[in-house]
Amino acid sequence: MFNFNTPSTTVNTVFDAVKWFSSSVKKSCLLALSVTSLSFSISAFAHEHQSENAPVAIAIHGGAGTILKSSMTPEKEAAYKATLEQAVKHGYSLLKQGVPGEQAVVETIKILEQSPLFNAGVGAVYTFDGNHELDASIMHGGTKNAGAVAGVTTIKSPIEAALLVMESSPHVMLSGKGAEQYAAENGLEQVDNTMFDTEFRKHALDKAKARMAQASAGYGSQQGNERFGTVGAVVLDKQGNIVAGTSTGGMTAKRYGRIGDSPIIGAGTYADNESCAVSATGHGEFFIRYHVAADICARMKYQGLSLSEAADKVVNDILVEAKGDGGVIAIDSAGNIAMPFNSKGMYRASISTDGDVTVAIYKDAL
Ligand code: ASP
Repeated sequence: MFNFNTPSTTVNTVFDAVKWFSSSVKKSCLLALSVTSLSFSISAFAHEHQSENAPVAIAIHGGAGTILKSSMTPEKEAAYKATLEQAVKHGYSLLKQGVPGEQAVVETIKILEQSPLFNAGVGAVYTFDGNHELDASIMHGGTKNAGAVAGVTTIKSPIEAALLVMESSPHVMLSGKGAEQYAAENGLEQVDNTMFDTEFRKHALDKAKARMAQASAGYGSQQGNERFGTVGAVVLDKQGNIVAGTSTGGMTAKRYGRIGDSPIIGAGTYADNESCAVSATGHGEFFIRYHVAADICARMKYQGLSLSEAADKVVNDILVEAKGDGGVIAIDSAGNIAMPFNSKGMYRASISTDGDVTVAIYKDAL
């Protein structure tokens, strides 16, 4: 009846025609499906391959201030450098394994929080009343999510709590008792405040109080050089995201619930994949007023400055003019790193996208 030619068969009945048609459709569907799945697997391979080779980089700081070689013993210097190196290498190896940036930042900072050498976690400075009130924050440059805790006294790892706030709460910053309750309810380790005690920081409090007792200018006059040791990390992860985190005990002899720049998004910590990720350290009141971390990123984004030009402008021009001492670590999404500071020293370390490791303390010499 029907007599139309097909590539392989002559079809003579309606039944044969339908059979041929449906088998051809099936074959083309199968072909289309296999082409699609092939292209899926090629793109999955390409993605995997790309992320396998994707660059990673990290920079960390352990605080800036009047850190002088003349007032450092070789043993103390070696201890600082060893801990910085341990932390930066740990963070880098996590990034190399493909661990997301926020986890790498937290795990790196935890090493510094647990070291008595730094003003974060164990080794945090004392408040005027002889306690420790800790601040921390984290920001993800891809999602622009951020989390922070301020004035917490019993959370073992404030940076872990900042991550918890970022990932599990609808808020950006929790403070004091509420932050502690939230951390406890979510299973973060709680400790007695005395766990953060160190002799070195107690001595610094005594010195600051003695100076305050002599000063005629009142409460504001007490800020000395006892504060440095805040810690921070900025990373570029294999997924192409940049993340920043900061953790601190704040300023020695602080009182009245003083909060510094470290837990304030935009001041002590900021991250935006389109510009940079920054963690700051220094005299927090200036870093808040000059919204230092966000200003560096904004200068890159809107003025087209490079990372080092933007960081240098804010740290070495604007802050110097304002008399705000301190420094920053900053990274961009290409993995460029800048670590300017306007004080005598800044504990710092980095590993570049090429794997080059630097560990340094002073301005001129390592
Ligand atoms: N920025 C910190 C604060 O003001 C202190 C520091 O980084 O040394 O709390």
